[in-house]
Amino acid sequence: MSDIRICPTCGGKAKYKEKNGDVSYTKVEADEAFKKIGQLKKALAKYKEKSEDLEVELKELKGFLEK
Ligand SMILES: [Zn+2]
Repeated sequence: MSDIRICPTCGGKAKYKEKNGDVSYTKVEADEAFKKIGQLKKALAKYKEKSEDLEVELKELKGFLEK
């Protein structure tokens, strides 16, 4: 879907975009970094969910001991 071209400035692989006559090149590496950030955010959200579950469980256990 993305148009990969050679960046005229640095000669590296870049995503080519044209909007209203404005041409822009986004380095592919940056694109991959964004993808990685997305993956890490997802992993972090999953981890957070799990730790919140554990926190609830801990509270329940504490409540059980205090009775
Ligand atoms: Zn470049």
